[in-house]
Amino acid sequence: MQHDVKLHDEPGRLAALERTGLIGSQPDAESDHLTELASGVYGASMAYIALLDDRRAWLKSIQGADISELPVEMTFCQYTIRQDSIVAVDDTLQDERFRNHPLVTGPMAVRSYLGAPLTTPDGYNIGTICIADTAPRAFTARDIELLKRFSRLAMANFELRQIAARDQLTDTWSRRAFRELLDQAVSAHARNHRPLSIVTFDLDRFKSINDTYGHAAGDAVLKATARAVSDSMRRDEALGRLGGEEFAVLMHDTDAASASIGAERLRAAIEAARLVDLPQLTFTASFGIATLQDGETLEAWLERADRAMYAAKTAGRNRVATA
Ligand code: GH3
Ligand code: MG
Ligand code: MG
Repeated sequence: MQHDVKLHDEPGRLAALERTGLIGSQPDAESDHLTELASGVYGASMAYIALLDDRRAWLKSIQGADISELPVEMTFCQYTIRQDSIVAVDDTLQDERFRNHPLVTGPMAVRSYLGAPLTTPDGYNIGTICIADTAPRAFTARDIELLKRFSRLAMANFELRQIAARDQLTDTWSRRAFRELLDQAVSAHARNHRPLSIVTFDLDRFKSINDTYGHAAGDAVLKATARAVSDSMRRDEALGRLGGEEFAVLMHDTDAASASIGAERLRAAIEAARLVDLPQLTFTASFGIATLQDGETLEAWLERADRAMYAAKTAGRNRVATA
């Protein structure tokens, strides 16, 4: 059920936007389908989905123009997110707020605008879905109703993506979302050549924990491991679950030597972790580190980290090895 829209809690709104992980995210096909559909249904020259933080409108998808972001004060959407209803402007030249606006007087020459807020389930307007046209329009009640539907679909897509991005048991990045993070990191590395390391780790003799204490205890160990690592890593590091009892931490701006220190801290944190219900049960993990080489593919990089991790297993487990 939709809660009341919270229009006067800007820090809460910004935190809600941050939680979606949408700012800077890869293009998604569903958002593009929605803006294509909206521009087609309304016969409008422009349709877009925008996410608004405190400085800029970040265009998640746009038809009819080629921009990726705008300063917030340059947008119509800044008004739309302050309302819990649709903003309809039939003719920008007749509207005090927009008459002298650069989007109206400049080359975009926007004459009409229909925008709906994108509201999170907890009631924050994080962005908008809009159509804009170079001709004035007379928006009808049906046009407004339809855009509400578009807004709900756009939000439903974001929510489903957010659920798919998290591993349900451990609340870490899911394999799929973590691969996206890695893809982005490898692309960024090709541009900036800043050191980038990955630390993969796999719980030691985990099968025997399941066999001895049961599957539920095994699940609790996975959760406790994720918690211990999350609590010990840096804020800009990302923890993903690659599979059963195998995880990885992506470390930005980190060379092999620093990654080794970081991994050792994580190893010690897992070794020190305990379950409230089974305080006698201890568990450990083996770690493999690889620092991305220039021109190396994602697959080759992960494979090196994996080989290092298996070397740590062979060398006796509960230790860190570097590729
Ligand atoms: P090693 O030290 O060589 O890694 O030995 P291991 O026993 O950890 O490795 P193995 O691959 O033989 O066993 C992994 C086990 O993890 C088998 C599988 O049943 C268990 N497992 C995978 N996913 C889950 C899960 O979500 N919950 C629980 N409880 N167990 C899981
Ligand atoms: Mg294992
Ligand atoms: Mg394993």
